[in-house]
Order: sequence, then C-alpha cells, then structure tokens
Amino acid sequence: MNLYEETKFIMKQNNIIANKNLGQNFLIDENIVNGIVDSANITDQDLVIEIGPGLGTLTSKLLEKAGKVICIELDPKMVNIITKRFKLYSNIEIINQDVLKLDLNKIIQSNKTEKIKKAKVVANLPYYITTPIIMKLLEEKLEIESITVMIQKEVAQRLATTPGDKETGSITYTVWYYTNPKIVLEVPNSSFVPEPEVTSSVIKFDILKEPRIRPKDEKLFFKIIKVAFMQKRKTLVNALINGRIFENREKAEKVFKELEIDPKIRGEKLKIEEYKKIADYISSEEENPS
Ligand code: SAM
Repeated sequence: MNLYEETKFIMKQNNIIANKNLGQNFLIDENIVNGIVDSANITDQDLVIEIGPGLGTLTSKLLEKAGKVICIELDPKMVNIITKRFKLYSNIEIINQDVLKLDLNKIIQSNKTEKIKKAKVVANLPYYITTPIIMKLLEEKLEIESITVMIQKEVAQRLATTPGDKETGSITYTVWYYTNPKIVLEVPNSSFVPEPEVTSSVIKFDILKEPRIRPKDEKLFFKIIKVAFMQKRKTLVNALINGRIFENREKAEKVFKELEIDPKIRGEKLKIEEYKKIADYISSEEENPS
C-alpha cells in the first residue's frame, strides 16, 4: 500500500472526513515525509514535539528515529487513531490539547533524561494558526534546538528573509532575532489529502544560542516593532508618534536625526539593528532623564 492508499484506508476505517476548521490536510507523499524528517536531523537522543500528528503519517517516521515523540493533537478522533496505531511503541506520548494552551517548557524539562538531551519541534502545522504557534515557540524561549515545519509558501517566504529587505511582517523580526531560518523544501498541493488551497513549503528554524542582537530592554524593542507594524503604511515616525513611543514629532525627528535614520522611512524597511538603536536610545533616556 502506498501512503495515499494507506491514508484513505485509515480515514475510511475510522469514518474520518478531514475537518477544514482544524486545518486537516494529511500528507500522502513519501518523499516529502522523508524530506521533513531528514531536514530535522533526528537522532535517538532527541525529544521530538510533533504538533498536530493527525493520522500519524509523520509520527510513524519520527518514532523510528527519535528517543521520544510527544504528539500534541486537539482532535480527539485523531488521538484515538494514533493511540491505537502506535500502541506497541514505548517512546510515544500523546497529549489531547490545544498546543496554544500548553506549557511546553514544562513538558520539555520533564522529559529531559540522561539519554535524551535535545528537543526539536517537527510538524505539518494547522495553517489557520501558523503565526501564533511560531510566535509561541519563539517567545517562550523554549530549550529547543530547531523547528522544522510545513507552512504556507507565502508565509515561509516572509519568514525566511532578512527583515527590512523585502516583504516582511513584525514576526520576521522575531524569527530573525531568535533563529536562522531556511526554506528546505517546496511542496506541491498534490502531496496532501485533501489538497489545500495554498502552496506549501517546509521551513527550518535553527535556534541561535544567543539572540542575534541584545537590546537593553527586549520588551520595549519588540513593542516598538509591534507599533511600527500596526500602521505599516505610514512612515515610521508617524507610526511611532501615533503609538505613543514618542511624545511628539519634534522629539521623534530629533532622535531619528541623531541615529542617522531617514525620517521618511517606513517601518518594514528598517533593519533589526536600527530598531535596536531606537529602543536603546529611549532606554538610555529613561535611565538618565535630562
Ligand atoms: N501531521 C499530519 C500529517 O502531516 O498528515 C496532519 C497535519 S494537519 C495539516 C494539522 C493537524 O493539526 C490536524 O491533525 C489537526 O487536527 C491538528 N490541530 C489543529 N489545531 C490544533 C491545535 N490548536 N492544537 C493541536 N493540534 C491541532
């Protein structure tokens, strides 16, 4: 049986109709499944967190390579299927929960052992929550080595660019701050059942040991980026005044002049180091008010 036949068989046997609201598009392409697992570079010393295992196609390959696989799945029907399917495996744990509500740090810490030292996230993500999942994985500063995930091609392109270069979003800065992103596979729609409406890519984020830059006040740094992107069609100066980062235009223009940043620039064109300069300037003023 090939993967397409196997998937259809499991769906029929369990009366499954893919739930669009849960982003259920099941992988049926052996080459892509192998490609994801190879890119993730899994060894028997790894704890793998798989988000949304679905019918268990990727899980089955992960179980062959990893020390342990923790599957986090929201749909109880999928949980039933994989519980039965992998009942003979001792290196699997299945959590029936919304990944966004879980304390992943706790799960990772409680699963580290003498043998299992590194944690990696691997998933064919539910596309309707791609951004919140990636933000959660990065902002919670999890002790993970890498994240290898299938996501929409457009989003992957936005995440794999250097912020300030091309079409970016505020998440591009978060990704660049914490990781080295790289698109590792392009995936045709025919690799899934049912076929999704959007094209997909697999992207790998290697987590940096230290963030790429060190602003004095990390919270303020990310707040400035968030404010800039809330009004990204405006000039950055205007966005930062409207968002109350600067009290008035005079102040904003003075800071931009001192930092040698073009006052007409839009937020999406700014390099991450320049956001750091703005944040550090404000932090220094708060530390030493004149
Ligand atoms: N891994 C399977 C595969 O590649 O064939 C299925 C991937 S499918 C794109 C996404 C999976 O995520 C579905 O099984 C869906 O039920 C699950 N899912 C959706 N929302 C979730 C959430 N909030 N938390 C955990 N799993 C979720």
